[in-house]
Amino acid sequence: MKMFRRFKFPGLLILLLLLNSCTNVNSPDSRVQDSIPEYYTVEDFQSVRKIDAHMHIQNYGDTVFIRQAEADNFRFLNLNVFKSGGKPIEEQQKFSIEMVESFPGRNAWVTTFSLDNFNNEGWQEEAIEYIKKSVANGAVGVKVWKNIGFFLKDKNDQLVMIDNPRFDPVIDYLAKNNIPLIGHLGEHKNSWLPLEKMTVNGNREYARAHPEEHMYLHPERPSYQDYINARDRMLEKHPDLIFIGAHLGSLEWSVDELAKRLDKFPNMSVDMAERVSHLQYQALTEWQKVHDFFIKYQDRLVYGTDLRSSAMDIVNNGIKDPAGIKKHAHEVWLRHWKFFTTDQNMRVPKVEGEFKGLKLPRVVVDKIYRTNAEKLFPLFSK
Ligand SMILES: [Zn+2]
Repeated sequence: MKMFRRFKFPGLLILLLLLNSCTNVNSPDSRVQDSIPEYYTVEDFQSVRKIDAHMHIQNYGDTVFIRQAEADNFRFLNLNVFKSGGKPIEEQQKFSIEMVESFPGRNAWVTTFSLDNFNNEGWQEEAIEYIKKSVANGAVGVKVWKNIGFFLKDKNDQLVMIDNPRFDPVIDYLAKNNIPLIGHLGEHKNSWLPLEKMTVNGNREYARAHPEEHMYLHPERPSYQDYINARDRMLEKHPDLIFIGAHLGSLEWSVDELAKRLDKFPNMSVDMAERVSHLQYQALTEWQKVHDFFIKYQDRLVYGTDLRSSAMDIVNNGIKDPAGIKKHAHEVWLRHWKFFTTDQNMRVPKVEGEFKGLKLPRVVVDKIYRTNAEKLFPLFSK
């Protein structure tokens, strides 16, 4: 009898708890949750908050992108890029700061550092100082570009890759201070192929416009794999670095190869800038694989386009007038949204043939379109 009494009360308690949780299922809050559909539609495009984590706006007086970003509910990251002989990075920084001040909450910027004095003593300190100053001025990350590996030479006139030990103190500084590094290192694999063998039209047009960068025409230069290996060696040396491989980490041609790197380097993410067409190309024949890749690596993929204000660039389709640029930005953003959110059959200018949209669940769409970028660039989250 005593035993029975001892167990009676907890039994009743459990019953009451169960009843209580049953009533919770019908509370107004959970009814609202149940009514949220699992997928977005094309109509949700404007109302969902999104981030384009890879743009280049460096044009005074040119605010067409901002206007369109506002209309399409995008915030964006404005990336500075160092090119020897190009627009001075101090000028880019000044402009980027003004953009943030003029359009608060709409954009943030990513700094870079000069390579002009790379072979001089004190270059590392100079680079770190510039990064420090940039971060104090609001930069949310640092970008390195493919000129490392393509054009930068050491004292012996040899090409310098990103795993060169001279970069180590700079990268260590970033890792120690949790400053994310965006790396456009190497190039898409198509660059090592003749024009007619390239898989997507965007790469073909770029190679046609920039023969000096079309690797197929320069067999004396490093191989595709040399660049991938150098990047991987750099990541092996700096496991704590928060790294975002720009342009699908130059592994745009194979979600399998990209998956291997994401498995190997837990602090690596990738942006999709100007490489969504490669995912679409793979979806032509391996839709399920591409879809499952997005589900599995949903925390490591960041949406971006590479849209830019230098209107003559191939990325903007050769469009020069502000109205045309605005329209083009909207079309690109909307087309990508359709690809990720619906299972419509689609055709796009950069890919030959028809493929189906990935129809990713809205939780995944929210990650790739916003929350992953907010986590990687906490200064940008709001
Ligand atoms: Zn870019």
